Amino acid sequence: MRRAIYPGSFDPVTNGHLDVIERARKLFDEVIVAVAHNDQKQALFSLEDRLGFLRETLAGQANVQIAQFQGLLVDFAVAQKATAVIRGLRAVSDFEFEFQMALMNRKLEGSVEAIFLMPKEEYTYLSSRIVKEIARLGGETTKFVPSIVVRALQKKFAR
Ligand code: ADP
Repeated sequence: MRRAIYPGSFDPVTNGHLDVIERARKLFDEVIVAVAHNDQKQALFSLEDRLGFLRETLAGQANVQIAQFQGLLVDFAVAQKATAVIRGLRAVSDFEFEFQMALMNRKLEGSVEAIFLMPKEEYTYLSSRIVKEIARLGGETTKFVPSIVVRALQKKFAR
């Protein structure tokens, strides 16, 4: 059983995240999409909302589980018997931080391997942060996020 964790804030989930999940599903028997519960990071959406968007969007995908985690990612990975952590790489700008995290995680826990997946080119410019900015300024987000998220963003930023 090859199990991978795909961790992140998913604040909110975007089509870029979904592209990475789709690729990961083909490589692993099971992918656990793990939403970080992080008090240090100010999120727009509550943990429950972020989990709900993922659950609704990924419902019916047999080998995808949705979970939340707190604390060290490698501890969660070991507890879940996962052998890999998936991260998305969009551009060189992602690389430095991801490289540092991957090597630090390896120091903390040698049994978990980091796997980097590149999304479709059209998603390389996409981030949760930029989608929130567009929504805040009254722009259209339908091309970037699933419909449940479009509606939630409209509600959040209703004027
Ligand atoms: P974090 O706060 O951990 O960076 P994110 O939800 O922003 O959480 O991202 C989770 C993972 O998904 C990260 O590895 C990030 O690089 C990746 N990711 C985010 N957006 C995209 C995208 N458009 N294409 C590919 N990977 C992405």
